[in-house]
Amino acid sequence: MSKKSDTVWTPEHFIGGHPAIDLTNTVFTRYLPDDDNDLLNSPRDVGNWFQFAGLATKAQANAISGILVPAFVESVRKLREASFSVFDALAAEKPPAPDALGFLFERAAEGFSTHRLKPRETYTASEIAHFDDPKAIVAFLAVISVEASIVLPRQRLHACPRCGWLFVDTSRGGRRRWCSMQTCGNREKASRHRLRADLI
Ligand SMILES: [Zn+2]
Repeated sequence: MSKKSDTVWTPEHFIGGHPAIDLTNTVFTRYLPDDDNDLLNSPRDVGNWFQFAGLATKAQANAISGILVPAFVESVRKLREASFSVFDALAAEKPPAPDALGFLFERAAEGFSTHRLKPRETYTASEIAHFDDPKAIVAFLAVISVEASIVLPRQRLHACPRCGWLFVDTSRGGRRRWCSMQTCGNREKASRHRLRADLI
């Protein structure tokens, strides 16, 4: 059992523009990570994330939080990393790694063929049959990642130059550079300001 306290999700964690992109951002940073970099450290972190992302009700989130299968969190992280690999490549206008893309499609396909997921009009709206089923949770995350890899406008998918978080730029001008001005944008400005002050 993890001794870490639960991750407190805030709107700042959900700036990706799509739940699949928000999932890839469940680490503090993609650049120079330390040992405490992960934001998904327990089934409760996963359950709370689902609820904050609007993908589960409180009761459904509680069912996820109650999953006792030891490898559950690790399997969510593995899915997330495959998804990050795909979207990070797309953001850099490179082809994704076939293994990562294949992994997402396999887990998604398995979710439907085992009836752990019930398809709806969009994949993102697919329903999880049982929220206490760890494989259904992973399959659902795979499905939304597959959908996002197809429908998201690639030319608007970017990586924050400071933390590596991914986001879809939905601004009219398409000039968004940072994951968020509050966190990375302002920090960058502050450090540049400091740098300039040091040079004078
Ligand atoms: Zn950032």
